[in-house]
Amino acid sequence: MSFPPPGTTAHPAGEVDILIYNALVLTLEPGAAPIINGWVAIQGGKIAAVGSAASFGPPCPSLPPARRLLDAQGGLVLPGLVNTHTHAAMVWFRGLADDLPLHQWLHDFIFPAELRWLDGEKVFWGTLLAAAELIRGGVTTVADSYFYEAEARRALGEAGLRAVAAQGVVDFPAPGVPDPRDNLQVAGEFVESGRHFSPDLMTSTIFCHSPYTCGPETLQQAKALTRKQGLPFFIHLAETRQEVEELQKKTGHTPAAYLDHLGLLDELTVAVHGVWLTPADQDLLARRGVKVSHCPESNLKLAAGVAPIPDLLAREVTVGLGTDGAASNNNLDLFGEMSLAARLHKVWRHDPTTLPAAQTVALATREGARVLGLEEATGTLTPGKAADLVVVDLNQAHLTPLFDPYSHLVYAARAADVRHVMVAGRWLLRDKELLTLDWPEIAGRIRTGGRDLAAFCQNLGRA
Ligand SMILES: [Zn+2]
Repeated sequence: MSFPPPGTTAHPAGEVDILIYNALVLTLEPGAAPIINGWVAIQGGKIAAVGSAASFGPPCPSLPPARRLLDAQGGLVLPGLVNTHTHAAMVWFRGLADDLPLHQWLHDFIFPAELRWLDGEKVFWGTLLAAAELIRGGVTTVADSYFYEAEARRALGEAGLRAVAAQGVVDFPAPGVPDPRDNLQVAGEFVESGRHFSPDLMTSTIFCHSPYTCGPETLQQAKALTRKQGLPFFIHLAETRQEVEELQKKTGHTPAAYLDHLGLLDELTVAVHGVWLTPADQDLLARRGVKVSHCPESNLKLAAGVAPIPDLLAREVTVGLGTDGAASNNNLDLFGEMSLAARLHKVWRHDPTTLPAAQTVALATREGARVLGLEEATGTLTPGKAADLVVVDLNQAHLTPLFDPYSHLVYAARAADVRHVMVAGRWLLRDKELLTLDWPEIAGRIRTGGRDLAAFCQNLGRA
C-alpha cells in the first residue's frame, strides 16, 4: 500500500476543543487513503476536520489551534469499532460450561442460571463488566440484546458507550418476565422509557429471540411496535440446521421465508447469524434490505456452521460483525472477530482473496454502523459525525514494520493494543485506563458473584 504525501488540509474555523495529532488516520470513508502525519480536530463532541500536517508538530503552522492536544505518538486513529450483536450480561457465564452440545448447554446450564440465579442487579454489574471489556477493546458502539434490559441500559449509559439496547422477548418464562403474556408489555414499556434516556447515545428497542421461541403474533406485534417508531428490530435467524429443519416441518418455510410471510423483513430488521440461508433466502434478505450481524466465533464454538457472508456481500446486503454473548465466544473482542472472519471465509472458499483486510475493517466500523441505522452518527471519521474513535498503539514488535494498516488491524493487532478510546468527544479510555468505570469495584463484585454462581450450578448438578 502506498500512502499519499503529507500536506496541509483546510482547517476548522477558530480554536477546537481537542486535536489528536501525529497519527496515521483511517477515516473509513469509502475509497479514502490512509493519512500520514494525520490529525483529527474535535469540536462539541463531533469531528470538526481531518487532515495531514507537513510535520509532526506542534509547533507546526499546518496544525489547527486547539485547547487540548493528544499526541498519538505515531499511533493508528480509526473510527471506534461497532459490535452489532451481544448479550452483554452473559459475561457472568463466561467459561461456565464449554464444549457441550447446544441443547445441553442451553437447557442444563444457561436457561436455569438465567431463570433462577440472574436478577436485575446482576445484569447491571455484568453489563458494566462487559462495558469495561468492550471499551478496552476499542468498541465505541454496541448493540445489546438481553433481559432486564433497563438495567443493562443503565450500565451502558454509565460507561458512556453509544448503544442500541434491545429488550429480549420469548414466549416462555424469561428473566424478569415470569409470565410470558407480559413480554410485549415489558418490551413496550422499555422502549417508551428510552425516549428520556440520553437520546444522543442510546437507542431503546426490541429483540425477539428467534422464530422458534416466539410465536407468530408475538413476532408481528413486536415488529409493528418497533416499525412504528423507526427502530431497528433484532432477531436470531437461521443459526442452526436444526432450527431450519424444525421450522420447515412446522410451517413449510425456511426461517427467512417464514419471517417474510409474517411481514417482518424490511430495512429495519437485523438478522443475527444467518448461517443456514439458502440462495433464495439471501435474495429475499437483499430484496427487503434486511441487515445481517455476523458472529463467526460464536458460530464456530457452538458448531452452528459458517454463514455465507461473501454471498450476502455479493448481493449488497449490509453486514456487520458481532461477538454474540461471552458464554458462546468467550470474549467481546472485535479484533478477534475481524481476524476470524477474514480467515474463515478464505479457507471455507479455498480462496485467499475472499474478505480482504480493508473490507473486514469496514464491516467492524462503517458497515456495522449501517446495520444499526447509525450511519449518520458514527462509523467513519467524517466532519459532522460524532467523535467516536480509537487510537491503536503501533509501537510494538508484532506491529512492526508497517506497510498496510488494514492488514495489521485484521491479521496482527489485538484488542490489548488499543490505547485511547473516545465516544462523542469524551475519553472513555486514556493510556489504557478506564475513565468512566470503577474497575476494582466491578471486578470485586463479579468475582464474589461468580463464586455464588458456581455454588448454584453445583446444586443444579445434585438436583
Ligand atoms: Zn445472540
